[in-house]
Amino acid sequence: MLLINCPWCGERDQSEFSYGGEAHIMRPIDPYALSDEAWGEYLFQRKNPKGLHREQWHHSHGCRRWFYMQRNTVTYEINAIYKVGEQP
Ligand SMILES: [Zn+2]
Repeated sequence: MLLINCPWCGERDQSEFSYGGEAHIMRPIDPYALSDEAWGEYLFQRKNPKGLHREQWHHSHGCRRWFYMQRNTVTYEINAIYKVGEQP
């Protein structure tokens, strides 16, 4: 079990949160200009690192806000939690 420190609500049990995948994936400004391969890469290709990973999380059973987390995927240690638009 992880304890996650929501930037707005404070420390809560992981069961209150939903994982939202890799953080900082930006939608292409002009999707119609992309090749099918580039569009497919944007939609489906994500990192799966062994070690530090930046993720987005949703406090779905709390304030219902999104935030970012930097977490070690090997040790589950949370290195940073920060609001959308901020840097760790
Ligand atoms: Zn919250």
